[in-house]
Amino acid sequence: MTWKHAVFGPSHAGYVGAVLANGTEPEPVHLDPGSGANFQETREVWAYTGMGNRPAAAGARACCACGWRGPTLPLDGAELADGTETDPRPDTEPFYEDWLAHTEAIEQQTVPLPRALRELLEQLDNQLTNLAMDAPAAALKAVDAVDRLAQHIGWLAARNVNAETPEQLEALSTALGVAPSEAGARVTYYRLGL
Ligand SMILES: [Zn+2]
Repeated sequence: MTWKHAVFGPSHAGYVGAVLANGTEPEPVHLDPGSGANFQETREVWAYTGMGNRPAAAGARACCACGWRGPTLPLDGAELADGTETDPRPDTEPFYEDWLAHTEAIEQQTVPLPRALRELLEQLDNQLTNLAMDAPAAALKAVDAVDRLAQHIGWLAARNVNAETPEQLEALSTALGVAPSEAGARVTYYRLGL
């Protein structure tokens, strides 16, 4: 199971990753799909069972797609000794909390929105939510207008923003809280007016 942040998306997708006894991080495990050509791989701790050619996880930590890693906790010995050693699923809650704190730190580094705009967005959310319950046709008309507004403003902003050099893209990625590639893709998307 991976954790997705509503705003940052795949740039900061989190999961509980495995740590080996020597403190290193194992290679991804290839999952046997049974039949069919789609094979998947995972880095989640539950896959590192020590069975077959899979290494055994000695510890677990919160991991993020951006490369951030949380503090490592040893896997509970009792849990491993009670016959569930083929399924060492740790309680994910503390790891989720670590990852959440990481995303909050990312959020802190993003460019702040003016207070008046934040309040306006909140009001818009409330009004449109009510409209969706009371007058759904009107709500659909309204969100279409919001969509067009977003496309137009996005186009203007993407034209004006500095995103040509790697340094500019890096700065933009911090301001938005997403990976540089994602920041670049967003600028391209709005510049093309897709
Ligand atoms: Zn991250």
